[in-house]
Amino acid sequence: MERDEEPGLEVGPQPVQSVTDAGMEVTADPECLFCRIVSGQVPATIERSTPVAVVFRDVRPVAPTHLLVIPRVHRRDLSDLVARSPGLVGELVATADMAASAAGLTGYRMVVNNGASAGQTVFHVHLHVLGGRPMTWPPG
Ligand code: AMP
Repeated sequence: MERDEEPGLEVGPQPVQSVTDAGMEVTADPECLFCRIVSGQVPATIERSTPVAVVFRDVRPVAPTHLLVIPRVHRRDLSDLVARSPGLVGELVATADMAASAAGLTGYRMVVNNGASAGQTVFHVHLHVLGGRPMTWPPG
């Protein structure tokens, strides 16, 4: 028996570990503005960073505190996130709540514009966290 044929002796390339949504999948769209914020290619005022999410200040705030909470993984909108990464939904909401507390908000409004008809303009899913002023209802 040749040395390389010994039972139990593995030779050659080992499998590359694949990482999924359940862990720390890193898939990015190079054309996506928010993916470029995640990667650091576009500057932003980062308030919180976790293995799965990034929180940063909205560049055109509509309230004294206006945070955006995004998954690191590229998902086009909330429907895409729910369909492909349902486990991240609660994680993002919890991250938003912690970021609001850390920003000193005792109350806040959380908004997701899901799709162009709802007002979405950046197609990497994000939660808006708005606070620091009284909110009115209904929203526009
Ligand atoms: P939406 O209209 O719900 O898609 O929200 C997109 C948000 O992204 C808007 O509130 C914008 O002001 C914000 N935004 C766009 N570009 C940037 C940027 N480079 N840094 C931070 N916020 C941004």
